[in-house]
Amino acid sequence: ANEDDSLAVKAPPLPSPLRHSKFTTQKMRILVTGGAGFIGSHLVDRLMETGANEVIVADNFFSGTKDNLRRWIGHPNFELIRHDVTEPLLVEVDQIYHLACPASPIFYKYNPVKTIKTNVMGTLNMLGLAKRVGARILLTSTSEVYGDPLEHPQKEEYWGNVNPIGVRSCYDEGKRVAETLMFDYHRQHGIEIRIARIFNTYGPRMNIDDGRVVSNFIAQALRGEQMTVQAPGTQTRSFCYVSDMVEGLIRLMGSDVTGPINLGNPGEFTMLELAEAVKELIEPSASWKLVENTPDDPRKRKPDITKAESILKWEPKVSLRDGLPLMAADFFERLGVSKK
Ligand code: NAD
Ligand code: UDP
Ligand code: UDP
Repeated sequence: ANEDDSLAVKAPPLPSPLRHSKFTTQKMRILVTGGAGFIGSHLVDRLMETGANEVIVADNFFSGTKDNLRRWIGHPNFELIRHDVTEPLLVEVDQIYHLACPASPIFYKYNPVKTIKTNVMGTLNMLGLAKRVGARILLTSTSEVYGDPLEHPQKEEYWGNVNPIGVRSCYDEGKRVAETLMFDYHRQHGIEIRIARIFNTYGPRMNIDDGRVVSNFIAQALRGEQMTVQAPGTQTRSFCYVSDMVEGLIRLMGSDVTGPINLGNPGEFTMLELAEAVKELIEPSASWKLVENTPDDPRKRKPDITKAESILKWEPKVSLRDGLPLMAADFFERLGVSKK
């Protein structure tokens, strides 16, 4: 045995497959679809800041903007492509974070047929791409796959209570099909998949007029308008700050589990409590009024994050009380109102 050892050529240690790119010698090449949007642009910041990645963003700018990525435009490790994911895409990458899809009800209901095409054809194309180049792909699914849940809090095993023909179906049924496609490509073609079920996320760069509750309340409070609490106001949501969400997505991509895995902040608030918090923390003179709700609004929602805690060693760090002022600072600036 000793003789054999002396003759053996010492090979350098092989890189673990996902730490290094198949296409370049050093940097991981990562595609982020929907990278010009709210969560996507924060994810791009994190991936770029390490210096270890080349990032390609594909976005059609339907609900996102170039402005969210302005600090990276012109950087040698960064590339921005105007591209609609319902069309095929040919790039060579190691990992795909597939976020492209409008997330706010106002945006996804604006052209519901396009929303479902984005979820179905867009995810199919990204899976075809993942198959061709052997990339690992992560889908940002949603707590909406649980519909108006009959179990509380929601565990990943829960199959959901979803209206297949309602006005939200293009989004929630669309994401359910996207999850199905992910698992079928995994089982049939051996694609490495990761599925995150994201619960309501908020933070800087949210579209000011995108209609989601946290951005609405903050913008209304800062503009001196009444906050619009949709009836009955006792419905609940759990709000996760965007930096926590991005950390969870990166951990899931680096893990060896397919998911689905819930990512969200388990702190649960009624919409009336949220309005009170905005008043207390951001604009003491703010007031609210009760307005009509939209159809199929889930009455309560709160993630069970036991899996994320045990498998990804992840838990949210930023509470709503800490996150709201951080977001308001960004809104102050963009709305051009003077800070009190
Ligand atoms: P966002 O609207 O800010 O970002 C979505 C991005 O996708 C935008 O930049 C938009 O222009 C782009 N896009 C939409 N359709 C496209 C298409 N056909 N081709 C290419 N690009 C397209 O929303 P977000 O809050 O950043 O959400 C990102 C992802 O996270 C979405 O998949 C969403 O479903 C999921 N998600 C978000 C939340 C949340 O609370 N923010 C909750 C659950 C799931
Ligand atoms: N696709 C893509 N980029 C690629 C490879 C495939 O956009 O690099 C698209 C392709 O156009 C197809 C989809 O992904 O519509 C699914 O591809 P797959 O190879 O799985 O299926 P097929 O082309 O055989 O229908
Ligand atoms: N909501 C509200 N006022 C608003 C916008 C939304 O009270 O101006 C409520 C809405 O009825 C829902 C909750 O806030 O119960 C979350 O709505 P959002 O659209 O932010 O997210 P989603 O319904 O997708 O969870």
